Amino acid sequence: MAELEFHRHLNLQAKSPAEREAILADPGFCNFMTDHMVDICWSEKGGWHRPRIQPYGPIELEPAAAVLHYGQEIFEGLKAYRHADGSIWTFRPDANARRLQASAARMALPELPVEYFLESLKALISVDAEWVPSAPETSLYLRPFMFGKEAFLGVRPAKKVAYYVIAGPAGSYFAGGVAPVSIWLSEHFSRAGRGGTGAAKTGGNYAASLIAQNEAYENGCQQVLFLDSTTNTYVEELGGMNVVLVYKDGTLVTPLSDSILPGITRDSILRLAEERGHTVERRPVTIDEWRAGFENGDIVEAFACGTAAVITPIGMIKAKDFTIGSPDAIAGEMTMSLRDELTDIQYGRREDVHGWMYRLDG
Ligand SMILES: *Cc1c(COP(=O)(O)O)cnc(C)c1O
Repeated sequence: MAELEFHRHLNLQAKSPAEREAILADPGFCNFMTDHMVDICWSEKGGWHRPRIQPYGPIELEPAAAVLHYGQEIFEGLKAYRHADGSIWTFRPDANARRLQASAARMALPELPVEYFLESLKALISVDAEWVPSAPETSLYLRPFMFGKEAFLGVRPAKKVAYYVIAGPAGSYFAGGVAPVSIWLSEHFSRAGRGGTGAAKTGGNYAASLIAQNEAYENGCQQVLFLDSTTNTYVEELGGMNVVLVYKDGTLVTPLSDSILPGITRDSILRLAEERGHTVERRPVTIDEWRAGFENGDIVEAFACGTAAVITPIGMIKAKDFTIGSPDAIAGEMTMSLRDELTDIQYGRREDVHGWMYRLDG
């Protein structure tokens, strides 16, 4: 497949402009999906083939499909932003494309060429551009994913694979202003182990996190923080967001481990901080360092980051036997100024000196 020519099958039951506008006025987070989806097939014999745009709708799968039994699945998440002049952009999609390749390698799935990834996003926007909202802090969330669809119950990598892109509009994550969250420290459950799949964006990591997430809710917290599975002392990340600590001398510290998902939001924020002259340390961090640092005033802010919420200030960590911070903490200054700088770049309100923005329409 040299050139990607998407076969177009348009949705005759697409939402009317009025229906769509009603959804875009209050989209929640992907409560509705757009009218179309994109897919590309892969087979051991034929490689990547049959790129299509088709109506969004159910996928036909054999009950024996590999993904339903052995979880051979990976995904990505990025956003399309509408700029003031109406143009549509996304943020560092090449990094998502490479991360999808890294996840594929780990999960014994085929690597989608970077160019195909970019073309698949443009193909979806070519038919669903009207779904990209324009109100402040809104976006169209893009969800590329790939899974083993071969019907075969023997345990080996699937010889038939499907890649899809779906999308849904997303409202402002913090409707009432950016508010710090309380986070439950999971002391029994790990999301990933050494040599496991923690650094791959694969559904199983999320499945493993859900029980701990329930524990968080039961304890009045919105999110869960995981520790390393070997010693239960090193901070890893939340179920779907990376963690950054801010020290009083302006140093930013983020945990380093091969079972943490390398976030593109985190990478971007830390680069912005470095360009402001801040020291950035990517190194192991224990929960004791966090606790002691907060108590003696060395650690002044903490935040979580990821594409969906960009930056979420951490108000409190709640563990079985102790707490760090308080539930009514206010968002830190550094946290908010980095959040503003990044979102200004993403929404075209600030010059993109890094070449991070990639145009999806036109
Ligand atoms: C996707 C994800 C993140 C954040 O990555 P971004 O590229 O910043 O969106 C962090 N942790 C996990 C487990 C994730 O799946």
